[in-house]
Amino acid sequence: MTKSREIEVTCPRCQKQSSYEIWDSINVTVSPELREKVLTDELFAFRCKSCGQEANLFYPFIYHDMDHRFWIQVVINPEDDFEHAPNLPPFASQMMKGYHSRLVSHLNEVKEKILIFEDGLDDRAVEIVKLLLRKNMMETENRVLDGPLRFYDLAKDKQGHPTSLVLGYFPVNGEEEIFAADWEYCLDIQEQLYMDLGVPEHEPLGWMRVDENYARQVTGTGKEN
Ligand SMILES: [Zn+2]
Repeated sequence: MTKSREIEVTCPRCQKQSSYEIWDSINVTVSPELREKVLTDELFAFRCKSCGQEANLFYPFIYHDMDHRFWIQVVINPEDDFEHAPNLPPFASQMMKGYHSRLVSHLNEVKEKILIFEDGLDDRAVEIVKLLLRKNMMETENRVLDGPLRFYDLAKDKQGHPTSLVLGYFPVNGEEEIFAADWEYCLDIQEQLYMDLGVPEHEPLGWMRVDENYARQVTGTGKEN
């Protein structure tokens, strides 16, 4: 279901009120036109009707893609986490089997998850690839990647077979960089995740945060300074 409502927002510049549409629930299977608007931030753009001030508003919502079998719950405070299984009747639990249910706290994370799941990837493996890239850069080049790494794309050859996982790196200072991880290597990591680390390929029902902390926990890697 897609659900939105009008609220009044006070302009941070002129203090006048403008109406603004917020989305509690975005189902892109029902409303496919909203997908692009999430990816471009258009859905979150506020424009004051009095002075023209523009801002992006961020608020809790659920993004649901039934075709790619994932939903993302956006929570503002990490303390709002509720990593429990939603209380669903048995038939619904059965339908939701193997769904990815994610908690995130930033729009960038929402967008990244959308791209990962649309490409049919497992974000748990992607987070481990990122963590190992950080470790590897430290060990081989003595270089600390201090900013976020984000999934960009799954590169493919002419036949449509994946060749590499492309990641964007956003340093605290400096220019964005692109890293690519070989696809075979990523598959190895995914297999290790399911086989050696005991992470179920089809995850159990329940909201879960999958980020660098998750990767550290699963791999037993402590926080590095
Ligand atoms: Zn204004």
